[in-house]
Amino acid sequence: MDFLAPLKIEALNSGVSTGISSLPAHGEIIESYSPVNGKLIATVKSGDKSDYETVIAKAQAAFTEWRTWPAPRRGEIVRQIGEALRTYKEPLGKLVSYEMGKSLQEGYGEVQEMIDICDFAVGLSRQLYGLSMHSERPAHRMYEQWHPLGIVGIISAFNFPVAVWSWNSMLAWICGNVCIWKPSEKTPLCAVACHHIISEVLKRNNVPDGINGMVIGGREVGEWLSADARIPLVSATGSTRMGKAVGATVGARLGRALLELGGNNAIIISKYADLDIAIRGAVFGAVGTAGQRCTTTRRLIIHEEVYDSIKDKLLAAYKQLRIGNPLDENNHVGPLIDKGAVSGYQKALEACKKEGGRFIVEGGVLDGNGYESGCYVKPCIAEVEPHFKIVEQETFAPILYLMKYTTLDEAIAIQNGVPQGLSSSIMTLNLREAEQFLSAMGSDCGIANVNIGTSGAEIGGAFGGEKETGGGRESGSDAWKAYMRRQTNTINYSTQLPLAQGIKFHV
Ligand code: NAD
Repeated sequence: MDFLAPLKIEALNSGVSTGISSLPAHGEIIESYSPVNGKLIATVKSGDKSDYETVIAKAQAAFTEWRTWPAPRRGEIVRQIGEALRTYKEPLGKLVSYEMGKSLQEGYGEVQEMIDICDFAVGLSRQLYGLSMHSERPAHRMYEQWHPLGIVGIISAFNFPVAVWSWNSMLAWICGNVCIWKPSEKTPLCAVACHHIISEVLKRNNVPDGINGMVIGGREVGEWLSADARIPLVSATGSTRMGKAVGATVGARLGRALLELGGNNAIIISKYADLDIAIRGAVFGAVGTAGQRCTTTRRLIIHEEVYDSIKDKLLAAYKQLRIGNPLDENNHVGPLIDKGAVSGYQKALEACKKEGGRFIVEGGVLDGNGYESGCYVKPCIAEVEPHFKIVEQETFAPILYLMKYTTLDEAIAIQNGVPQGLSSSIMTLNLREAEQFLSAMGSDCGIANVNIGTSGAEIGGAFGGEKETGGGRESGSDAWKAYMRRQTNTINYSTQLPLAQGIKFHV
């Protein structure tokens, strides 16, 4: 494991940091096992409540200084972080792949996303525009400006162990906020590595210690962040179950929650589709990252006239899939994150069969040489009805459901007929169909694509979804506004005090 030394990962690491300094941690030890081979990678000492309080105090103090740094100067720090990530892309990408189980290419791709969001944030640091408005009163000027919020709490999921944090923190920082990260307890070493990489940049630039806090631990750390009125914004990525808990707790104190939760993403394959593109998009979307992306394709809604042809092509494509060590670039599908996820996959297969689903590619857990971790499963395909309970749920594994449709209205109704609303796509070369799908009568998701699959996204767009996906938007476009507070300012440079709406008030 040549990649651990450059990232300064030791046998036992502290899971508590204020950004520049790692602090002694007083919580339980978390052991990180690789789903690739079941071996222990290293351990992390988690933070307890007193460690959390230390990190909060440092963050509060750091904010009073950091908010006074001009935004472009904050952007310069983020630019240097991007450079550091370029330097460490290879070891960090390998660690992501080894600790999380995604393919090496996806591990590198995830670090590239971090670099890309740094570049985006640097440009944004010279923008953060507010509008100016024409006042209805003479000799008055009216405009709006954006100020930082304070501490941003970031709760992240295991499947994007580093990118999701960077989407949040890079934007939050250029906006003038300080961050406290609660990474997934399933991928703690990726978080420790990020802190080591970034602390060098922060130290070199005399950035106030506390802007990049981290407390590794179980869900209780997420609960502390959610309940803490000193944290005006909690950005939480993970399951809908988690989001409902976080949303309720943050809402009860009237804080802000930015929620990025589960998806149940579908591709509609029209009879007018380019079937080769459709198959490639569907297979990559369904089996990439072993079905553990929030944007994974879980449902194919296929026009009856091309249904059999799509089925045959899928069968042929699935026969070619190579399942195994994700660090070996010849393999297409790596492991699930842990045995708990494997058991969730098995339960979904049973539930699907019970409801009448017919498997055209059978699932199952793999064992034997190369599969010793017990986390490798077969990507599978079932023919189902849209109303099956199991089809309405997100199972975080490579299970693909096929459904048939006759009219586009029916296909859109099936696509929208689930509680989640993250990513969606239509494969069609027919302009009317494509436009209907993108219109107000079309997809109800935060992401709607034409002739590309559901999986993955570019950082330039706002990322997130509707309904049980939580409604949050991160990353590109104007997602930065979630990390700032808007202030409307009116300045009177006349010698009068005219009131709005022409109201007269004589004293
Ligand atoms: P998870 O909900 O089990 O855990 C996510 C994080 O929330 C972890 O850090 C966990 O410790 C914390 N947490 C759990 N319960 C909590 C609570 N009650 N209060 C506060 N924090 C709590 O999710 P996971 O298994 O790590 O990730 C998979 C899920 O994440 C999938 O549903 C996937 O779709 C979703 N996801 C969504 C997006 C998106 O952008 N929409 C991105 C990645 C993953």
